[in-house]
Amino acid sequence: MEYDVNELLARCDASGCYDIDKIKRAYYLAEELHRGQKRISGEDYIIHPIAVATIVYDCQLDTDSICAAFLHDTVEDCSDRVTLDDVRRQFGNDVADIVDGVTKLNIPFETKQEASIRNLRKMFLAMSKDLRVIFVKLADRLHNMRTLDVRSPEKQRSIALETMHVYAPLAHRIGMQRIKLELETLALSYLDPIGYAEIQKDTEKRYGESKDFLTQATKMVAQSLDSYGVHYRLEGRVKSTYSIYKKMYNQSKSFDEIYDFYALRVLVDTELDCYTVLGIIHEKFNSVPGRFKDYISTPKQNLYRSLHTTVIGSGGIPFEVQIRTWEMHSVAEYGLAAHWKYKSGERATHGLDEKLRWIRSLVESDNDGGDPDEFFNSLKIDLFEDEIFVFTPKGDVINLPARSTPVDFAYAIHSGVGNKMVGAKVNGNIVPIDTELQTGQIVEVLTNPNSKGPSRDWLTYVRSSEARNKIRMFFKKEMREENIQLGKQEIDREFKRYGVRYTEAQRDKIMQSLASRMGFAEGDDLYNSIGFGGMDVVKLGTKLKEEFNRLVVPEQEPAPVKPDIVDRPAREDRKNKKSSESVIVDNVEGCAVKFAKCCSPLPGDNIIGFITKGYGISIHKYDCINVQNGLKREEDRDRWVTASWTARAERRALGGFEIHLNIFASYTPSIIADVSILLRDMKVEITSVATKESGDNIVLNFGIRCSNTDHANTIIGALRKIKGVYEITRGNQ
Ligand code: MN
Repeated sequence: MEYDVNELLARCDASGCYDIDKIKRAYYLAEELHRGQKRISGEDYIIHPIAVATIVYDCQLDTDSICAAFLHDTVEDCSDRVTLDDVRRQFGNDVADIVDGVTKLNIPFETKQEASIRNLRKMFLAMSKDLRVIFVKLADRLHNMRTLDVRSPEKQRSIALETMHVYAPLAHRIGMQRIKLELETLALSYLDPIGYAEIQKDTEKRYGESKDFLTQATKMVAQSLDSYGVHYRLEGRVKSTYSIYKKMYNQSKSFDEIYDFYALRVLVDTELDCYTVLGIIHEKFNSVPGRFKDYISTPKQNLYRSLHTTVIGSGGIPFEVQIRTWEMHSVAEYGLAAHWKYKSGERATHGLDEKLRWIRSLVESDNDGGDPDEFFNSLKIDLFEDEIFVFTPKGDVINLPARSTPVDFAYAIHSGVGNKMVGAKVNGNIVPIDTELQTGQIVEVLTNPNSKGPSRDWLTYVRSSEARNKIRMFFKKEMREENIQLGKQEIDREFKRYGVRYTEAQRDKIMQSLASRMGFAEGDDLYNSIGFGGMDVVKLGTKLKEEFNRLVVPEQEPAPVKPDIVDRPAREDRKNKKSSESVIVDNVEGCAVKFAKCCSPLPGDNIIGFITKGYGISIHKYDCINVQNGLKREEDRDRWVTASWTARAERRALGGFEIHLNIFASYTPSIIADVSILLRDMKVEITSVATKESGDNIVLNFGIRCSNTDHANTIIGALRKIKGVYEITRGNQ
């Protein structure tokens, strides 16, 4: 495609709507700055800004947009010779802001996650306070797509993918339909060259000789309608290659089944006119059987209303005719908001979709009679006054409420990250954690596994309900009484579903028994867990029924009096009691946990939980070899859960945790005694001793009880000083 700058300038001049001197100044400056630079194709670089300016002109944008199009790559590519301030001085704020916006949107696109792509699209809008940024950016991308053939196959693919995922949907949302279709079709030609070529060939074969078909058909329909004196507007379109592709692949249709390759739309004043027009069209043309649909009498679910029919035009070529009133059209194009707008005559201002619909209506309206300045000023609108978009260090985009802080960000990543947060970096600099984040910043959370958890005053400045809820969850243990009551109500509700009768005492007995089965210290702990939502009552269903049958049913049936064998005192040993109190699993305290023998974690150790089949959650040290191997198993991935120590565990675990020490030493006759005496002197309880000799060396395995990591390290430090000891590790029996 040839782009002729003199022709473009002449057209601008002739139309009389542009500040031609300003446009020329922009062109001359761009030409001077880019002089000597080449595109990858070998052409002079200035070809590209000329092309972008031409596309922008064709979209009927204003002087400043055309100037910005000429200058859009100068600040980035010629930074040694021109700055944004130079542009601002010479061309004013609007041109400078558009150039700046287009430059900032040169974001490398790495992510493949759907949610992140969605956020990326929104972020593009958020970063363009002036919609003209998006228009120029789309024109830039369109020209790059048109000239993509000179790039490497890898680049072609990634740029085409980005175009399909980010740019085409954006063009669609702001109503640049023609650009959207061209972007999609170009992207398709790189993403599926074979499918694309097939459709091109079929189209050529079938419609190649009827290039003027649409013009002819439009003329014929217009003539018939004119002769009946109907007031109407006619629009025609050719289906794009990508739309055909989607229809063929998504609905598995063959090319011959595409009846709406050509389509005409007739817009009329009243519903009655719709049927009148339908009658005229069916009289004039033969219709294709089975293709008539009356969505006026039976609207689609999304309230779409219209008449559809397919008729045969000259040369036996079918084309679809859609007939609808202006109001139906408005709803079809802009959705429900338009319906409401149509009725009330007001403009919707809330919500992104409404705003975008409104922009589309601006873009698509002919804008005749209006003041062009007012029109372009109306494109300066903050689409996301309530939201911001920031990056993770990996480049994923996170969407947060406006004025969010790094704390909100941390909890948006994961509650485990939020709870262990100790600081944050924004764009590489450490900042206070209540700093208000801005769209486009890169945010990194600093965590410390030994962090005691969130602070209550975080609640005063977090903005997202997600962060608020997760922090509250962390503090929920202080609402124990309330939670126990809630838990009791939940259980009553569950029993009600079974339609059984029981007394409060029986219910508490069931829960007591269930609690000890599940490793809770007492029934109230189980109620508490249900109350704050840590335990799903529905998942308890089977066990509840079992306990009910075992404990309550025998009492209700008078006959055989069975001894109550279940109501063991919650003896269940002090280890279990401790374990359920000392660990928070996936932010839930009070789960049944046991400590893995392979690594015997201590309060203070970095830990992780694994959901076992039938024995609750087993807690490992994070650096346990079984964890490192286990995390690699794809099929078990869901079974790993975050775990952390409660403050209580760290405070009160005095001598409560059994660990094993492997003491490697040179053999001396007194080595076992030396170790035992030292442990006794340090008041450390020994639970087991095993030894293994090999040559001159000996490995002692001592089971001991200690309180936390610090305690263990102190013990290990002391043992190291014993003569002959050269290495000590924590490990299994
Ligand atoms: Mn460019």
